[in-house]
Amino acid sequence: MDLYSGYINKLIEELAGLPGIGSKSAQRLAFHIINMPKERVDRLAAAMMEARDKVRYCKECFTLTDSEVCPICSNVNRDHKTIMVVENTRDLAAYEKTGKYMGVYHVLHGAISPMLGIGPHDIKLKELMQRLKEDVNEVIIATNSSLEGETTAMYIGKLIKPTGVKVTRIASGVPVGGDLEYIDEVTLLRALEGRTEL
Ligand code: ZN
Repeated sequence: MDLYSGYINKLIEELAGLPGIGSKSAQRLAFHIINMPKERVDRLAAAMMEARDKVRYCKECFTLTDSEVCPICSNVNRDHKTIMVVENTRDLAAYEKTGKYMGVYHVLHGAISPMLGIGPHDIKLKELMQRLKEDVNEVIIATNSSLEGETTAMYIGKLIKPTGVKVTRIASGVPVGGDLEYIDEVTLLRALEGRTEL
């Protein structure tokens, strides 16, 4: 039995498919959208389409960006010989917010998870190894301290060691299972400063 119109149901269904949106939130959002002025709905829809169309991976660090090379990679004042490896663009943003890290990044877009069937080839690992052919002093592994993050860190550590490039892991001041993006800047900096060689 359909309580709402088919169009509303369809909207609720689409919204409920987004991460972190349960069916109640989806309903609330759907009714909110329907009551919004038409211009605002147009703007929202256009912003989604534009972001989807125009945003791409930086060809060096693979973060999401509007240009071929992201502003961090194209900044000559950054230390291009220090690469911090993070799981996603949100983690990169968390470190950027501290304003203290002057190196560059490498975004994996995921972490190794045997349980979810995500292997080393499903994340941007090959691309990281490719970058190590350039002159690199240190790779700082800043994946989350979840099981997947630790597995990924260990895997990358083993992969890089034979190349002779210094590889470090951020300190585990970060709570276990904690998403990097939710951790405050002081904790992030402490984790970075307390990093140890793998
Ligand atoms: Zn970049």
